[in-house]
Amino acid sequence: MRPIRIGIIGFGKIAQDQHVPSIQENARLELAATVSRQGNGHPGVPCFASHGDMLRQVDELDAVAVCTPPSVRHEIARDCLEAGVHTLLEKPPGVTLSEVEHLTSLAAARQRSLFATWHARHNPAVAAAAERLAGQVIRSMQIVWHEDVRKWHPGQQWIWEPGGFGVFDPGINALSIATRIFPGELFVRDAELMFPENKQTPIAAHLNFASSVSGGELTADFNWRHRGAEAWNITFQTDQSTLKLSEGGSRLFVDEQEIAVERGLGEYPSIYADFVDLVDERRSDVDIRPLRLVADAYLAGRRRLVEPFES
Ligand code: NAP
Repeated sequence: MRPIRIGIIGFGKIAQDQHVPSIQENARLELAATVSRQGNGHPGVPCFASHGDMLRQVDELDAVAVCTPPSVRHEIARDCLEAGVHTLLEKPPGVTLSEVEHLTSLAAARQRSLFATWHARHNPAVAAAAERLAGQVIRSMQIVWHEDVRKWHPGQQWIWEPGGFGVFDPGINALSIATRIFPGELFVRDAELMFPENKQTPIAAHLNFASSVSGGELTADFNWRHRGAEAWNITFQTDQSTLKLSEGGSRLFVDEQEIAVERGLGEYPSIYADFVDLVDERRSDVDIRPLRLVADAYLAGRRRLVEPFES
């Protein structure tokens, strides 16, 4: 069977660190091209200055992975789907819900696969947590997602621009896990978003959720001003136990005892294994709930100006 020929658009940190090795180790995939405006593509693979050039010039291109900042993702993905190419979206899948809904309809109309990826969900501990939480009474949920923006986003200016998501860029990973494992709907009841005076996106945020399946305290605390070791934890108190997912969803603890889970493929190899299945079956997988919670936090939240931030 001919491999699925895939191009990567937006050849920055995540494309180089995760997408290239995951594509190369999957026998069903072949890296056919990259798009980088700076000309910084992958050695030995054709590199184009725009996605339009790639779509016009690469023979038998089957699929693309869109790894640009989110603000340009809709236009690029639209062009790719219109060109008949299966499309994988890095998270978050767009800046607005309308963009993502449009891409979903377009993929269906063109009978191409659209995959809105949420990499943190691909940890086996996340599925294990979902299984354990199903049927339990949730007394509280506490999301703590604290990291140092200087360490994780050095030199990235787009994160501070409109559509750049600010602290919701990592925070949406927590929300992608929460929406996967919480045994019911989550609604943003209120939120406080902290904007540095000199930035367009928040550096910290605190969200309170409501849910029809829990009257307890359900919170998320996102902080990019954190120094030292990062904290990426979600803790549930249930009627049966304390369940904690730590290290970004990779480790599961029940009453402080670590639960052994299968090793799994790794986040990005698992994403590409799923993408191959979606393409083979001409299916799409687009879950907008994490993005919707971010949008709701902006809609329902209070804005607080905080001291300027220099990266
Ligand atoms: P990045 O290092 O800034 O890379 C993005 C690349 O996209 C840039 O190298 C740039 O390459 C290209 N680009 C930038 N602006 C563009 C524009 N206006 N139009 C077209 N191309 C543009 O960012 P990243 O960290 O890889 O993040 C990209 C996406 O992956 C984000 O949505 C992020 O949330 C997600 N993600 C990142 C990580 C991580 O650890 N970094 C983890 C998971 C997911 P050229 O200038 O050469 O074109």
